[in-house]
Amino acid sequence: MAAQHEKMHYAGRSVSENVIQIVTRTDEQPDAGRRTLFGLGRTELAAVAAELGEPGFRASQIADGIYKHRLADINEITTLSKAMRRKMSERGLKVGRPEILQVFRSVDGTERYLVQGESGSLQTVETVWMPEGDEGEAGDGSQEEGEEAQKAWSRATICVSSQVGCAVNCQFCLTAKLGLQRNLTAGEIAGQVVTVLDRHGVEVGRERVNLVFMGMGEPFLNYDNFMGAVRLLVEEVGLSPQRMTVSTSGIVPGIERFAQEPSEVRPKLAISLNAPNDEIRSEVMPLNRKWPIAAVVDAVRQVKLRPRERITFEYVLLGGVTDQPEHAREVARLVRRTGLPAKVNLIAWNPGPGIPFSMPQPGGVEAFRRVLSAEGVPTYLRRPRGRDIYAACGQLKRTVEG
Ligand code: SF4
Repeated sequence: MAAQHEKMHYAGRSVSENVIQIVTRTDEQPDAGRRTLFGLGRTELAAVAAELGEPGFRASQIADGIYKHRLADINEITTLSKAMRRKMSERGLKVGRPEILQVFRSVDGTERYLVQGESGSLQTVETVWMPEGDEGEAGDGSQEEGEEAQKAWSRATICVSSQVGCAVNCQFCLTAKLGLQRNLTAGEIAGQVVTVLDRHGVEVGRERVNLVFMGMGEPFLNYDNFMGAVRLLVEEVGLSPQRMTVSTSGIVPGIERFAQEPSEVRPKLAISLNAPNDEIRSEVMPLNRKWPIAAVVDAVRQVKLRPRERITFEYVLLGGVTDQPEHAREVARLVRRTGLPAKVNLIAWNPGPGIPFSMPQPGGVEAFRRVLSAEGVPTYLRRPRGRDIYAACGQLKRTVEG
């Protein structure tokens, strides 16, 4: 959710100046025809072991190797015998974890990655690492009492993509301009996270990382793969679903399915609201004509929230369109009327070529926040991260073709 962008210049500089690492693949499709293990759950891995004539416990060894220890090559999984590893390679099996093809680093420490998924697919997706988060998690109950930042990135956030392109057509978003190219597989979604954790040597369980499924695509239009990835990340990688947030544009059947997920694997939910009423929302998010605000809120009510959990309403401020004081008052009324434990995250719109909106006036976002807060709605500003590398919210759109 919420990604846009196109190759362009920022403050007179080409984005390519920020490229710090390019991984060149000389062997175009070296793995074509090989079978990927990354993305498979225990049952499927047990089937692979059985195919090889190996006992079922091998599935656990493979899962631990590729998900917990983040090994990207079968030969590194030394809990498996050499003979088994050889047999796996001969049968065309490989780990097949997504690879980072290109890294852009912002002056603020944010990194944006072009990630290649399944072998043979030249389409890349974008994943973003924000070493100090973006303040979007503030007030969501995930900061334990007395917990203090120990390291610069102790609150790091990874923004994850769920599709290549998007079919939803939000008018302020550059990803929409790509249209939907394809759904990512569960392995490609979870793989973005594992690859980035690996790059930063994150110790899962000790260091605090939040995931936001807010990159390219609408997760609830790729529901099974999205939830498949979440299950792998929770059950195999060891991340907490309470430190994950999925943002939807308001796909009602998806929200209803999501409400049925057990709390052990259910991320927190954010609704991309972006307008104070149906009339304006239908203009900026045509999807609203199908599922208006009341229908979305009704579906959200079905989610059984954990203690202290809140629903997030994401709100992109578009200059002159959704950023006026009367809009803030209307949003406050709307949020209060839902009766849900909720908070609002405000995001100043990031400009993109060919998108007919303007940024809010300087000070406008803070003024908007003050109105909402005064009306009793907990409201946070999402800090724009990585603007100079087009990693900021609404700026993801394959800035370099993969
Ligand atoms: S078009 Fe809408 S749903 Fe799709 S990525 Fe953009 S903001 Fe998210």
